[in-house]
Amino acid sequence: MRAAVFHQCGDASQIKIEEVPEPQIGAGQALIRVHASAFNHLELWALHGPVDESYHFPMWTGSDMSGVIERLAPDVTGWSVGEAVVVNPSLSCGRCERCLEGEVSQCDDYDILGSGGNGGNAEFVAANVDKLMRMPEGFDFVKAAAAPLAYQTAWRAVTKRAKLQKGEDVLILGASGGVAVAAIQISKMLGARVFAVTSSEEKMDKAQSLGADFVVNRKTSDPFDEVHRLTRGRGVDLVIENVGAATWSGAQKILRKGGRIVTYGRTTGREAITNLSLLFWNEQTHIGSTMGSLTDFREVMELVFDGTLDPVIDSVFPLEQAADAYARYERGEQFGKIVLQMR
Ligand SMILES: [Zn+2]
Repeated sequence: MRAAVFHQCGDASQIKIEEVPEPQIGAGQALIRVHASAFNHLELWALHGPVDESYHFPMWTGSDMSGVIERLAPDVTGWSVGEAVVVNPSLSCGRCERCLEGEVSQCDDYDILGSGGNGGNAEFVAANVDKLMRMPEGFDFVKAAAAPLAYQTAWRAVTKRAKLQKGEDVLILGASGGVAVAAIQISKMLGARVFAVTSSEEKMDKAQSLGADFVVNRKTSDPFDEVHRLTRGRGVDLVIENVGAATWSGAQKILRKGGRIVTYGRTTGREAITNLSLLFWNEQTHIGSTMGSLTDFREVMELVFDGTLDPVIDSVFPLEQAADAYARYERGEQFGKIVLQMR
């Protein structure tokens, strides 16, 4: 099969389309003929390195994919060859205390399919059937592939961890990434007032068209000063954070007293300074969130499949042009998801 591989860490120019062995399926697994796979930051983190002992070249990643069941392990029941499916990339042991409670993202051995290689940026991928979800007939493979990681992450962060309420003010940072775009849609669905921060006029228009009430361009003004002004000094109830080191202290300062921050990422760095005075005196709550439970995944995918939440596609590249897709992601030009299409 063909895959978008790299033989060493580096930039997008390392990506080549090559023939690699088709994945072998084990017990409880299906071989999926991939129709579309969507990029996440995991793509760039793996490509850029640094290399460690987990790397095995040639390597291909890809954690979000949709496709059709090509083959099933002999022990699998309840699934048929030819069914169109989307894959939940959560990998969990199924035996530990947190798995048994359904909280797979807190599994002791939690991992994300494809993040360490053998992913969906290829013509076939092996996946556990207990992580498959059937697609409604005729549903677009590109939109389906764009949803699993971003939407379950946003759904859990916004609704389960931060418990956003109708009428609350929410500030969404880095508002052109896949999860943040999903968070805008989910926050509006819940009836919140959304402030979004992004980095160009074009991205501002797109955030606004998704329903963001106020959009700030961080290239032309300080977003926290701007939100302070727009909220007449009150600040916001919730900050949805994924930028990390560059925005953490600003996020703390823009909260109203009793406000909360939920973070699901750290694009600009994992170490930030927390102002403990603001934390206790203002009674802030700082919340971490990762991916989603099996319930989170199903709940949000139902909303994607019934059209309530509509994944935003930045661009679609054929597998052969995967290097161009990586280059676009590296330049940070995207708003929404970059998707590879295999067929
Ligand atoms: Zn587990």
